Amino acid sequence: MTERSFGRLAGRTALVTGSSRGIGRSIAIGLAREGATVVVNHSGRDATPADSAVAEIEAAGGRAFAIAADIGEVEDCHRLVAESIQVLGHIDIVVNNAGICPAHEFLDLPLDLWQRVQDVNYRATFIVSQLCAQAMVERGEGGRIIAISSISAVMGGSMQAHYAPTKAAVASLMQSISIPLGRYGITCNSVLPGAIESDLTKEGWADPVIRATNEARIPIGRAGTGDDVMGAVVYLASDEASYVTGSTILVDGGLYAFLH
Ligand code: NAP
Repeated sequence: MTERSFGRLAGRTALVTGSSRGIGRSIAIGLAREGATVVVNHSGRDATPADSAVAEIEAAGGRAFAIAADIGEVEDCHRLVAESIQVLGHIDIVVNNAGICPAHEFLDLPLDLWQRVQDVNYRATFIVSQLCAQAMVERGEGGRIIAISSISAVMGGSMQAHYAPTKAAVASLMQSISIPLGRYGITCNSVLPGAIESDLTKEGWADPVIRATNEARIPIGRAGTGDDVMGAVVYLASDEASYVTGSTILVDGGLYAFLH
């Protein structure tokens, strides 16, 4: 089988940054389940989780490739898109998911840590989206550009003075680029996850007091999962969302509504 002939994304191709673990992994697996051939990107620190994501997709009858590239580095962003086009043929869907959130107090936040968070979370989203958009425009078949922002984009976050603004920036970027890219049939949207249980947040969720406090503020009554976010991404990637662009979708179990 070279590609799935069924599913909402049959015959499509997708690049998902940071998809070896967490939310990105769920997104890569979900897109593959709908028929897309997927590039699973990881930072290069440890290839094992990416290889296991590829194996999981292939075991289910899908097709995927792992590519190591530290998207905090400009050259790696360029290489990632070039190698993705090489293995996929072209890119129909790009999901800018990779992100880091090393919690730190604002008053003594070091500038090099601030810079690294900007580079991975925001600069990479700009570069990867621009390179993919250029290739999509040249090909003339439209496309989907999606960014995984955060509820922190609309409400700030404690210990997140370096992180939350990058999440507002990527949502704003999707809105801004949806304007010039609309005429090419390329949609640009962002998904704002709420409190999702992943490697990024597992320490907090492991503390029973923090878990109970968090769950009490979420109307749906539980932590979110990667699959919850994946559902919104698959929708935005699909033909059903062809008239949705410049939008943001909150996937937070009602947390924002509760807090406001
Ligand atoms: P996670 O569990 O820590 O997973 C992060 C993924 O990104 C891993 O696959 C990691 O690969 C990859 N990655 C990290 N730095 C990278 C780099 N420099 N280059 C390439 N890949 C890199 O994080 P997550 O919770 O799934 O978060 C995913 C996205 O959702 C982030 O943008 C985050 O801001 C956003 N988000 C998360 C939550 C939440 O509650 N978890 C809420 C709102 C928004 P390696 O294995 O190679 O490190």
